[in-house]
Amino acid sequence: MNNLIITNALILPMTEQRKSFSGYVRMRDGLITEVNSGMPGKIAEAEQTIDGGGCVLLPGLINAHTHLYQVLLRAVWEDLELMPWLKRIYGCARVLRPEHFYAGSMLGCIEAIRSGVTTVCEHNFLNPSSECALKTIRAIQDSGLRGVFARTIMDTGEIVPDCTKEKPEEAFRRIEAILATHDDDTNITFMTGPNTPPINTTPGLLKEIRRFADDKAIGISAHVAESKSVVESVRREHGKNGVVEFLYQFGIPAKNSIFAHSVHVSNDEIRILRETGTSVSHNPVSNMMLGDGVAPVVDMLRHGVNVALGTDGAASNHSQDLFDTMKAASLLQKVHHQDAGVIDPYSVLRMATLGGAKALGLDSICGTIEVGKRPDLILVDIDTIHNQPINDIFSQVVHCAKASDVRTVIVNGEIVMQDRTLTRHDERQILADARLANRDLMERVSKLSF
Ligand SMILES: [Zn+2]
Repeated sequence: MNNLIITNALILPMTEQRKSFSGYVRMRDGLITEVNSGMPGKIAEAEQTIDGGGCVLLPGLINAHTHLYQVLLRAVWEDLELMPWLKRIYGCARVLRPEHFYAGSMLGCIEAIRSGVTTVCEHNFLNPSSECALKTIRAIQDSGLRGVFARTIMDTGEIVPDCTKEKPEEAFRRIEAILATHDDDTNITFMTGPNTPPINTTPGLLKEIRRFADDKAIGISAHVAESKSVVESVRREHGKNGVVEFLYQFGIPAKNSIFAHSVHVSNDEIRILRETGTSVSHNPVSNMMLGDGVAPVVDMLRHGVNVALGTDGAASNHSQDLFDTMKAASLLQKVHHQDAGVIDPYSVLRMATLGGAKALGLDSICGTIEVGKRPDLILVDIDTIHNQPINDIFSQVVHCAKASDVRTVIVNGEIVMQDRTLTRHDERQILADARLANRDLMERVSKLSF
């Protein structure tokens, strides 16, 4: 673990509304030990100094919802609505192999690091074998990212292939095995969850999931009310007005739950989210790509719901770039409400940092730059043509900065990218492995009928 000091940077600690100052951050033994304006008095010889001149120093971005392996499926099915698209995504379970998950997830992790992400929440849902989840976890660990692995379950559904449907007891046993073998890794935590209720989960499973999550003291991640078709299904099959209302009877909305999408939720359901302390991962690019609709993010924020940001998988986003997602989140609400002032850039950046940390139960560890937290930090070069001159740093981080401006990425005190060079990996090798995995997967997919 490095003893580091970053000097000369414009620091956005994200601890209070629109606070920014020029200063330095000191890290020792994997913790932030000093955050101050100006220059440090004395720098010890053992300290590695990074000059942050020309850069903004931010808490690492938190991608609260993705499916990393899907970078192998970029731009494969891009003109379909949610249900026919999902039929193909689920169908892949028949041909996906553990090595596809590893190579794809590594590429996804590297793309995340290169775009300033320090934490990813991998919502895992295709498990034709136990090895698939293990390979994804291994990739996250190997990449150096902080990870939340949400190992979710499907036990029913017309479009779900039998090979990836699990009986609850069988799935819980597999998850217990994962928990037992990863309890000493501080960089990865776990969640469970129903994948996309109610279309691929039975009420029996929902009841059991809440009991299992409480028993293991882990959170719940679920795809919730992503499209109108899911809401129609809950009305038709279960006589409820919405997915959140349906899940409420099983105790699924809770302080340790994160609901991805939540596009089609009513005001009453926003109230349930607030009262239960449930967080939402807003994934605007994926929602636009699949034509799902616009999540009521402004209403959620006004009612005090914690909102995080996610890319979703690259099969419905094309990238793992959270800068892209921040800009989309801002612009989508402005155009949807036809009100340019309806959402401010600080709130958007907060969703991508502290909002994500809270949603994933990591806010005592990361999400802000504060003494006592882990050093999950990024230096973003703002001394560039498209970022200058600086008039409003928060607006410009959200609307001007690009993933390619991220210079240095630190996770848990370890530099995983310095001056755009990955420190742990040969990027060309990861790309070559991903291309190979992609060719093999596409060949297998071409033999499937959907
Ligand atoms: Zn998703």
